[in-house]
Amino acid sequence: MQIRTRITLLFTCITATILFIFAALIYFSAKESREKEFYTLLTKEAYTKVNLFLDAQVDKHTLQEIYRNNRKILNEVEVAIYSTDFNLLYHDAVDIDFVKETPNMLKDIRSKGQVHFYQGPWQVVGLMYSYAGKQYIVTAAALDQYGYTKLDLLLKNSSLIFILSIILLFIAGRLFSKRVFSPINSMTEKAQIISATNLDLRLETNNNKDELSVLANTFNQMLERLESSFDAQKSFVSNISHELRTPLSAIIAELELSTIKERSTAEYKAVIENTLSDAHKLVKLSNSLLDFAKASYDPSEIAFRPIRVDETLLDARQMVQQANKNYRVNIHFNSEIDDESQISVNGNEYLLKVAFVNLFENGCKFSDDKQCTVNVSFQDNNIVLDFTDNGIGIPSKDLEHIFLPFYRGENKTRADGNGIGLPLTHKIIQLHHGAIRIQSTVDLGTTFTLAIPHL
Ligand code: ADP
Repeated sequence: MQIRTRITLLFTCITATILFIFAALIYFSAKESREKEFYTLLTKEAYTKVNLFLDAQVDKHTLQEIYRNNRKILNEVEVAIYSTDFNLLYHDAVDIDFVKETPNMLKDIRSKGQVHFYQGPWQVVGLMYSYAGKQYIVTAAALDQYGYTKLDLLLKNSSLIFILSIILLFIAGRLFSKRVFSPINSMTEKAQIISATNLDLRLETNNNKDELSVLANTFNQMLERLESSFDAQKSFVSNISHELRTPLSAIIAELELSTIKERSTAEYKAVIENTLSDAHKLVKLSNSLLDFAKASYDPSEIAFRPIRVDETLLDARQMVQQANKNYRVNIHFNSEIDDESQISVNGNEYLLKVAFVNLFENGCKFSDDKQCTVNVSFQDNNIVLDFTDNGIGIPSKDLEHIFLPFYRGENKTRADGNGIGLPLTHKIIQLHHGAIRIQSTVDLGTTFTLAIPHL
């Protein structure tokens, strides 16, 4: 069942229940007040007639005549007067006699002083009356035709109004819910046509702060993120193909050139060396991409265990210096290590080593002295690593972009690279719940500061 129908039915049921309770309360209070009022009327009539009979000594036949005449047009009250020994002294119409007084009934009236009860549809009041030192039992009975007709009319009208109200409520609920749900329907229609090829489409929003506007805005923000990550993916792929094509084209051109005519051994050697260098670049790029993919995994899929950062730094230094004989990496400990946990992090050894190697290599390759120094210190719960070089520095306009994949700074002509190292390092540090900061001055040098929570 549609939410719209469900809401309409719920709305109608709740309002109908409230209406029903309200109408029932009105009906029952009207019923009760009719009964009370009629008993009061009967009591008054009983007193009037007993007064006329005993005090005013009006003739019995006159009273009976009045009763008979009134009965033709009114539901006249039938009164009977008994002595305390249950002898009938007066009766409006013995021949009609709707109320059959029994000795038990009269006894009851005598003992209680006043009683109210029904005999069939008739309402009866029985009461004691004293006159000239003597007690009399009086009964007065009548059918409240007028009251019952009014009550019946109230019931019919209330039922009719109730049924009409439910129909109106249902129609109003339907229209109201249609109005409420129309923005959702248009959102659904719009969302159905949004696909990878038209991620630039957005849901219509207004400046209201209602729930639907918040939902539409949230959806649009999600589309914004999807679109930018889609664009990033597209440019990532085109960057990769560009980075792969450049060394591959160089290799092909070199090899084609060398096959055009016979070359000397030295020339062949030079071609082999050049193509080998390009092949190394390709291997480095594919390794970096592989590491980037690893660092982008769900953290739950990456194996983390306690790692000693000092040992990982030493391994990274060894790797860097082995691959580049002219590079020098210095490691300094600024303070004493109190215990093993202080220098250990919960991490992935391979990825951490990749991050340290990148920073060492960058420090060395962008400096004339080919040196990079890492200072190890501790701050709060973090191991702080400052990778410093006295190199060419990074222009401030490049600083905000250097963590973007394939971005290479203005100074890129000073060293080979592919722009994957820093984004990869950034990702790895994030995976380790750490932070990375850069401080750089052109021609003076650069410091990358890593803070990683220790054990
Ligand atoms: P790559 O080194 O392969 O170019 P990276 O992602 O490691 O790619 O670095 C991105 C850019 O940041 C570099 O091209 C360079 O412009 C700048 N950079 C990074 N480290 C340094 C550094 N220590 N000194 C100067 N520039 C740097």
